[in-house]
Order: sequence, then C-alpha cells, then structure tokens
Amino acid sequence: MASLEWVTERVRSACNGRGHLETDAIFRVVDEIRKQADLAPDAVVVLLSRIRHAGNWFSIGEGNSHYMHADDWNLFTATSFRLPVTFLLASNIIMRGMYDTLDEVVYRAHEDARGCIMDMCLDKQDISLKMRTADACPECMARIRSRIKAGHLDANVVIDCFRIMDRVRRDLMFRRRWRLDPEPGRLTVSGYAQQIDLPSRRVQMSPIQRALYQFFLLHPKGVRLVDLRDEVHLREIIRLYRIMATKGTPEEQAQVIRGVVEDMEDKLQQHLSRIRRAFRQALGFREAGLYTIEGKPGEPYRIRLYRQFVRWTDRDGHPVDCGPDTDVT
Ligand SMILES: [Zn+2]
Repeated sequence: MASLEWVTERVRSACNGRGHLETDAIFRVVDEIRKQADLAPDAVVVLLSRIRHAGNWFSIGEGNSHYMHADDWNLFTATSFRLPVTFLLASNIIMRGMYDTLDEVVYRAHEDARGCIMDMCLDKQDISLKMRTADACPECMARIRSRIKAGHLDANVVIDCFRIMDRVRRDLMFRRRWRLDPEPGRLTVSGYAQQIDLPSRRVQMSPIQRALYQFFLLHPKGVRLVDLRDEVHLREIIRLYRIMATKGTPEEQAQVIRGVVEDMEDKLQQHLSRIRRAFRQALGFREAGLYTIEGKPGEPYRIRLYRQFVRWTDRDGHPVDCGPDTDVT
C-alpha cells in the first residue's frame, strides 16, 4: 500500500531546490507509487499535489501517468477537484497523442490562450476558458486528424475524450458555479441600427456610445483615451458613428465625434460612464465589468470580454471580425 503519508514524503523529497516539481521527478514519483501500491501497468495514476510543477503547468500527462496541481481549483471553479481533473485527464490523453514526446507537447502549447486544449494555461482565467470551450483550435484539430490518419491516435478515443470534456463543461455551466469567473453571456451587434444586445436584453446606448463601444470592440488590446484623437482612430469612430447617426450632415457628424474625443476629461468620460451604467442595468454591477470599457489614466482602455463571445454582423448581415483575443495580463 502507498499511504498518503508515504506519497507526501516521496513528493516532498522529489522537489527541486525551489520546492517545485520538475517533469522528470513527477513521473519518477508516479512510477514509485505504481510499484509501492503494486498497481497493474495499465492502471491510470493521477498524482494530485499542492506542490507546483517547476514550469507552472496545471497538469501534465504521459501514458497512464498524470500530474495535476491540486491547489486553488475550488477558488476559481467553486467545485471539487473531480471535474477539472476529469477534464484535464481527457485533454492530456488527446494532447499526448498529438505529438511523439512530452517535450514537443510543451513546445507546441499555445502561449496565448485561445480556448484550445493546447493552451499553456499559466493563468487561472485561461484554464477556465479552456474548460468553457472544451474545444481544439482549427490548427490543432487539423493535427489531430492527421495523427488519426497516421495511426497515432484512435478516433474513438478522441471522440470519447471530447465527449467527456463537453460533459464536464456542461456540468460546470449547469451548476453555475463559476462564481469568480462566470460564463459570459454572448454579446451581439446587429441590424440596421447596429444595436448591442446581451442574451434576452438590449444594452441601451446612444449612437455615440455605440460607436465608441464598437471601436473598443475592434481593439482588443486597448487604446489610450488620448490616442483616440489620432487621425486613423478618429476616422474609424466617425465611420462607425455615421452608420448609426440619426441626425446631421456627414460633416456635422464628424464634428460631433471630434468634440467628444477631444473633450477627454468631460464628454468622453461621461459617455464611458453612461456605457457602464447601461451594462450595469442590463447585468448587475459585478458582471458588467467584463463588458465595459475600462482602464487607468494614461494607459490603454479596453473591453475585457473574450472576443469569441462577440457576434457582430454588419447591416448586410456580414460578420465583422473583432480581431484575435489578447492574452490576459
Ligand atoms: Zn490549438
């Protein structure tokens, strides 16, 4: 038998000088556990530990041996280990089948979270994004397909793993336990007036506010307020405003926007706070912060919402691309 104390002692002594677990050490400990507990070679062993991986990975897996960092899960999913562990096991199995070595998996992992199983996930928000999407990006999907064709991955195993991940995802949604990180409602921009809607409710904003909001939707990395006066930004806001403006000649419409953008301390701030109020009315105070335009004086202002939760179609019904999501820092 491998008692908890025994395992704890083995894990502690496997730590490096900084008190973290290197990848090799993890698999060595799992092998020791396997021997000590006299487990069958095909038994899946998951080492749950509060001790961090040296490279800060939440989970790592090779064959039937897996490691999961067991701390803080309940903090950001308000759930037991069971769901994230099940999810990560399934995603580890696919990831390991995608490449020949663990080193290559690490090398190929996406540094910027894109809601793919191959996201590196150094940030807790990133891993909950991974679990909310339970998906692979097109690039990784192509890789999975080619590995299946070449016989390195079993199509049925892949399908089962995605099914498991989707079950976990739905379970988490259903429980609505993402207290610190709620599933964001989809934001849509659509129709003749390019109105902004959340599921089952409209966000009431004037044409000027909608133009400002849409401008920031198009700039996921954010823009400093003072830079809104730059000719290229100004022209973009004017273009957005003209689509929705209900009064004035094109020249007057341009003047309106110029007036707002140049009066940063007053008019612009007023519009930003009206946008805030509109989202708070639609969503409540706490959730609104994900959608509003926020920033510190002198730094870029941005909308935090992942752009994958935005559906924008222009007046003709053509999709408008808001650009790639930025990493969350
Ligand atoms: Zn990917």
